[in-house]
Amino acid sequence: MSHEGIRIVNADEALREAAEEQPLPPEAVTPKKVRVMKTEGTGVAIDWRDGHRSAWSFAWLRNACPCATCHEERESSGRRPGVPKPGTQAPLVMYKAPARPVEVTPVGKYALKFKWNDGHETGIYSWEYLRRVCECEDCRAKAKD
Ligand SMILES: [Zn+2]
Ligand SMILES: [Zn+2]
Repeated sequence: MSHEGIRIVNADEALREAAEEQPLPPEAVTPKKVRVMKTEGTGVAIDWRDGHRSAWSFAWLRNACPCATCHEERESSGRRPGVPKPGTQAPLVMYKAPARPVEVTPVGKYALKFKWNDGHETGIYSWEYLRRVCECEDCRAKAKD
């Protein structure tokens, strides 16, 4: 029996492979309108040039931090971007203020950088990354296939 052709990939590898295999068209990764609801503390919403609309809560974005440290940490525990660390929602865990940015800075024309209220600020959220982790119902349904 041959196991050739069978590979086990985790979510991040799958995401990266998908990124290599099918480049997104420029209009899918170019925002028409970006709303950062920093004062309201709710999250980020982007209207893309191709008509698609994405929205994420700040907590989700914090858990999807694309920096190398967070990425490796998620990869080692097999978590998809946006999924909180196990145990962080347990009632006995010391109260942690919900994630929100204290500063949001555009990086060139291609990304957003957040300085979070826990002090972390190394993640650069590129438009392409954000589009790939779109949390709308359609994209989530597709990601499950
Ligand atoms: Zn990070
Ligand atoms: Zn979507």
